[in-house]
Formats: sequence, C-alpha cells, structure tokens
Amino acid sequence: MEYLKTGKDQNEVLADDNAVKSVVEGILADIGVRGDTAVRELSARFDKYSPESFRLDDADIERAMSKVTKGDLDDIRFAQEQVRNFARRQRDSIRDLEVETLPGVFLGHRNIPVNAVGCYIPGGKYPMVASAHMSIVTAKVAGVKRVIACAPPFGGEPHPAIIAAMHLAGVDEIYVLGGVQAIGAMALGTETLAPVDMIVGPGNAYVAEAKRQLYGRVGIDLFAGPTETLVIADETVDAEICATDLLGQAEHGPTSPAILLTTSHALARETMAEVERQLSVLPTADIARVAWENYGQVIVCETQQEMVSVADRLAFEHVQVMTADPNFFLENMTNYGALFLGPRTNVAYGDKVIGTNHTLPTKQAARYTGGLWVGKFLKTCTYQRIETDEASALVGDYCSRLCRLEGFIGHSEQANIRVRRYGKSGSV
Ligand code: NAD
Repeated sequence: MEYLKTGKDQNEVLADDNAVKSVVEGILADIGVRGDTAVRELSARFDKYSPESFRLDDADIERAMSKVTKGDLDDIRFAQEQVRNFARRQRDSIRDLEVETLPGVFLGHRNIPVNAVGCYIPGGKYPMVASAHMSIVTAKVAGVKRVIACAPPFGGEPHPAIIAAMHLAGVDEIYVLGGVQAIGAMALGTETLAPVDMIVGPGNAYVAEAKRQLYGRVGIDLFAGPTETLVIADETVDAEICATDLLGQAEHGPTSPAILLTTSHALARETMAEVERQLSVLPTADIARVAWENYGQVIVCETQQEMVSVADRLAFEHVQVMTADPNFFLENMTNYGALFLGPRTNVAYGDKVIGTNHTLPTKQAARYTGGLWVGKFLKTCTYQRIETDEASALVGDYCSRLCRLEGFIGHSEQANIRVRRYGKSGSV
C-alpha cells in the first residue's frame, strides 16, 4: 500500500473536536437554564436572526411556498416520492413477532413508533432541502405522531425551498432555528417549544456534538457530522469521473475528507492532476480546495482485498465503487454508511433524490450503525405471556434456582410463589 497524498492526521481532528465540545456544553447549559431567552440570544449571535416567533404559522408557510417555482416544487415532490416509496418497502419488511418457545410460553415483540421527533435540517453553508425528505418523510412513514423540524435562517430569513420541503413532507411544526440552539431547544424544551423524544438529522460539527451530548436525555439517530467520501476505482474508469466524485463531496465543508483508493498508479496520478484542473474552475473551490488540501488522500493498493481492508478500517460515510466487479465490495465490505455501486450512480443521486437515506454515519460510526431509516424511529419492545400452569411452574423452577445463584432472594420468591400456585401440588 502506498500513499501518493496524505491528509491531516486523526490527532489534529480530535483537537478540533475538543474545542467544539466545550462550546456546545456551554450553550446547552445556557438553554437548560434560560430557555427561550438563551435561544433568542444565541440565534442573534450565530445567525443574526431574532424574529418575534421562531415558529412559522400557516401564513408564513404559504408565503414561503409561493416563493418556490412550480418546477422546484415538482422536483421536491419527485424526490420525496422516491424516499417515501423505499421507506414504505423497508417498513413493510419490519414485522412484529410472536412465537411459542416452550409449550405454553409465548414471547413476542412489537415495533412501536417514537411519539415525538425533532428533525434538524442543515442550512449554514447550503440550504439542505433534501434533509427534509430524509428525516421528515421517513419519520412519518414510520408512524411518528408529532414530527417537528428546525432549519437555520438563510440570508437572514427562512429558506423558501426548505420550508416548502418540510411542509410537503408532512411536518407538524416548523421553527427557523439553527445549530446548537435548535438541537438544545428541541431536546430540552423551552417555554414555547415542547420537547421531543428523539432528535434526528445531519449537521455540522456543532450540531453533531450537541446530539451526542444530549443522547440519553433524548434518543438520537446516529452521529452524522461533516460528510466523508471514499472513491474506490480501478482502470475501468477515468480520472475525470474520479476527480468529479471526490470534489463533489469535498465541497460540503472544509473538514470533509475525500479519499481515492485504487489499484492503478496511473489512475491515481491522473486523478490528482485532474482534481487540480477542476479546482481551477469549480465555483465552490474555495471550500473544496481546503477540504482536499487538508483531508484529501490518494492511496494505491496491491489488490481488491487490500482495498476492502483499508475501506473497512476507514468506515466512511459514502463509498463509491467504480471497479470491474463492484459486487465484490458489496459482498465483502462490512463498515460503510452507504455504497454506490458502479459508475452509473453516485453520491449526489443518493444525497438528493434516488430514495435511499442521506443521513449517514460519520467519524467511523459505521463500525456500529447504518444510516437513518424507518427502523430508527421504531422501538422494538418485547412482551411475554404464559398460558398454562405447567409452563409457569416449569420456568419458575429454573428461575428460582438461577435467582439464588445470584443472591437475589426477592427475585426467587417471585418465582417460588408461582411454582406453589401453578405447580402440581397447586397449594397457595
Ligand atoms: P448547519 O445547519 O449544520 O449549521 C449551521 C449552524 O451552525 C448555524 O445556525 C450556527 O448556529 C451554528 N454555528 C456556526 N458556527 C458556530 C460556532 N462557532 N459556534 C456555535 N455554533 C455555530 O449547516 P452547515 O454548517 O452548512 O453544515 C452542514 C453539515 O451537514 C455539513 O458539514 C455537511 O457535511 C453535513 N451533512 C452530513 C450528512 C450526513 O449524513 N452525515 C448529510 C448531509 C449534510
């Protein structure tokens, strides 16, 4: 394995994280104590926005909708339809269960939607309209009763296309609030915003850290911070498509890593030159160049298997595979947010429209979780029932001994009373 270009090392990234951690801690503590007053001050400080009410009413929503062209509304509807269709099929694949594990013993589980969910729709650098489809549509398909959403102001006011997408997705309450103040208000509640049970959606490092700190107080979907992309390619594709796919994601933000993994030295060298050429013309090069220079990497491997090992170690959010046999990676990779197989598809399709969810694990969270999907909004809750006296006495007999093994005398009495009542002797 050979590095033709290396990026910033993990220790420097962790140092950045510690600075973000303490800022977020302070803001959340402030919101916890001062509620709406703190939220208003924070919004004025970070987003220069301090309206009479952060919540939009029906007239505000209608006004925003009227500013969006019919063409844009149609595109949003199309994207939401794709997300909804796939989410519905996924929902159908999740089943409640009841089985008889011993004669007379019934064990089961039910998938119960979370009651109230807060969706964060990012909008600092770009108005991320698509995040509204990903979080709100999916929560509604899962059956969540109260779905609220926050997005920061854009250019000093609510972004019309984001508000339209939230509304079309079926959201119940819309707030124009960004960053930690949005996450804090939804999780902790304020005088004017009733708290939710779970917070979902992507965001920058501050948003991701706020969700991490609030986990426990509320549920969260996953750690979905600054975007990462890994392009795995061989000589079956050219440098132009590889460079396009690297920079297409590096433009997300200055801390978004983009890595090329290849078995071809020639493709690696050509892609590095092509990245420079594209950076000289890309309108968002000011961001993409910083990301590429600091975090971009180009790694040449000996074999496909070696590429799988490196990719699994990276556990990146997006993995675009453009090789002779993309299915090899589908069959062998174990750590990734989402796979994009073959040159015909790409991360932008997934981000905006194709129907798989774009809220995906970053910072190696793909080692233990997949991305947002209907299943994240469902609690799989178990139950049990015993329908015969014999079964109760049989389980009770084992249970009593196992409780005593651990020293739990009260527990064993719970078993013993059932053995006495329902066992063969049947005495009280
Ligand atoms: P954002 O909405 O996440 O953040 C904007 C907010 O950040 C502002 O409202 C402000 O309140 C807050 N903020 C900015 N500077 C601050 C500071 N110094 N201290 C405290 N708060 C501060 O929008 P964004 O910044 O454009 O970031 C969007 C992020 O979402 C990008 O990093 C993108 O890569 C990521 N993303 C991730 C996924 C995923 O699934 N992992 C998907 C889409 C987007």
